[in-house]
Amino acid sequence: MEHTLTGMQASEIVEACSFREAFRGKQVYKWLSRGATGFAQMSDLAAVERKRLEALFPKIYCTEVSRRLADDDGSLKLQLRLADGAAIECVTLEDLEGRRTACLSCQVGCPMDCAFCKTGSLGFLRDLDAAEIMEQFHHLETRSGRLSNVVFMGMGEPLLNLGPVRRAIEILTDPAGIGLSRRKITISTCGVVPGIMDLAANGPQVRLAISLTSAIDSIRDELMPVNKRWPLSELKAALMEYQGKTGERVTLEAALMGGRNSGAEAARALVTWADGLHVQVNVIPWNKVPGLPFSEPSRAELEAYLAVLESAGIEASRRMRRGRGVMGACGQLGDTLKAD
Ligand code: SF4
Repeated sequence: MEHTLTGMQASEIVEACSFREAFRGKQVYKWLSRGATGFAQMSDLAAVERKRLEALFPKIYCTEVSRRLADDDGSLKLQLRLADGAAIECVTLEDLEGRRTACLSCQVGCPMDCAFCKTGSLGFLRDLDAAEIMEQFHHLETRSGRLSNVVFMGMGEPLLNLGPVRRAIEILTDPAGIGLSRRKITISTCGVVPGIMDLAANGPQVRLAISLTSAIDSIRDELMPVNKRWPLSELKAALMEYQGKTGERVTLEAALMGGRNSGAEAARALVTWADGLHVQVNVIPWNKVPGLPFSEPSRAELEAYLAVLESAGIEASRRMRRGRGVMGACGQLGDTLKAD
């Protein structure tokens, strides 16, 4: 049961606010979807009603912005303080056409321990609830401007917290509120096989991205401990089933580190592994994280990797490096959390 209005559907708001008329719940829901943080802003509610609601919910939000870092490229990283004192980060990334994507967190820290990821090095504290996820979106949109896409690629593994992630997606896509298209939402997983099967069977049908990193088990074991639990063969079987049920193309993310998982041989392994799957590959030159023992790939390694994919007919794009100036790029979230 959600306790915070920002994580509720309109019908639940009716009950939480003890409204007699259902349309009052829709009014509040609409205001919240536009980023309202107080009842005083809800001008279509009678003053006496606003006073009653303020007494019922002295604070609407359960999170507050505790730090804000803006990059010259339009990216914005926020650190949010949660009601229990824990902190998370979320980011707006802006592309060259001015489209803004919210990169949201779903856990405080992450239990998956990927070797190349700052968040993984922080350990895991707890799951976020739907309100804590939704408020990241609202805080970012209020400060960055209209957001057109959402990716669950921030802190945490979304398929280990699928209940609140599903609820947040319902709110994000509700035409009576924010109304984002499901096609504009991406869940990114490190390869939690039962979660992929759950998505295949029960939805929501949003875009799915797999942080693959390497298609060679021995290397993936080293870089991503999840591979010891669900090795590449099981991951592929799950994706075959997912595609059989949904017909959706899957994005493979390859964060490339110099001398580890980049170059032509690594790309050939990916081509062989992906045979039979409908995929596109996002090649992400690893973003430097102080304290982690990896380096960025050389230009030659990157070009060799991309050339193999291209000659195999696999659609590949080189992810633009946005947000690096605020440590808000892929794998970098969490750097502000130890400083406070
Ligand atoms: S890459 Fe994703 S799954 Fe892996 S440790 Fe980082 S946040 Fe967790």
